Amino acid sequence: MINLRNVRKFYGALEVIKGVDITVEDGEFAVFVGPSGCGKSTLLRMIAGLEGIDDGDLILNGTRINDVSPDKRGIAMVFQSYALYPHMTVAENIGFSLSLKKVPEADIRRQVNAVAEILQLTDYLDRRPAALSGGQRQRVAIGRAIIKKPSLILFDEPLSNLDSALRVQMRAELQRLHRELKATVVYVTHDQVEAMTMADRIVVLNKGVVAQQGAPMTLYHRPDNEFVATFIGSPK
Ligand code: ADP
Ligand code: MG
Repeated sequence: MINLRNVRKFYGALEVIKGVDITVEDGEFAVFVGPSGCGKSTLLRMIAGLEGIDDGDLILNGTRINDVSPDKRGIAMVFQSYALYPHMTVAENIGFSLSLKKVPEADIRRQVNAVAEILQLTDYLDRRPAALSGGQRQRVAIGRAIIKKPSLILFDEPLSNLDSALRVQMRAELQRLHRELKATVVYVTHDQVEAMTMADRIVVLNKGVVAQQGAPMTLYHRPDNEFVATFIGSPK
């Protein structure tokens, strides 16, 4: 579904993505993992179209999309900071992108209710974000992304602001969501346990290059290099 071919990115003279080749298959839960500053967010933002690509090809379903605008890619992104609208209710936050597109009110309500059902937010639709827990806020952010029915959902460290018990619960919820939506997911984290437990495919990044990519157990049992062995093999 996604192919990155020799993709590069510079910030000024600093090369932060140094010619990466990555493949993610249709329907996979792919996790990009690596230490802070290795380029995970930059890669995700390039896939979403929020950041330009300086060299190489970004292919989505066989089409080169380097120059396609973000809103025409059919990709949704969920950020670490939930970025909800504080003055809007949960229902208004989730339905916002549809109201921008002038979808009729009744249709919006129906679709918001369906999304709220999946995310267990039905009882909270009239609340404002300030009256929600961290986990509920993150679910609203996910609701805003999935109401657009994207074929690809990008998550940038979505659970890192949550406490550890909630993080474990949300991991399971996100996997359930992935199965229900049948969407392709690219999930970014610096947490190797999260990567190992959630991924169909792991892409390990280090300093702007791919250290190794493959199934979690392959990386665990047959690391290509010392960086992967150390990073995957030593949970925090
Ligand atoms: P990660 O998400 O893995 O922590 P990032 O993709 O955010 O890493 O950053 C990769 C590198 O690019 C880091 O060295 C970071 O300092 C640098 N960087 C990120 N965004 C910018 C920017 N807008 N301008 C300059 N440098 C940046
Ligand atoms: Mg980041």
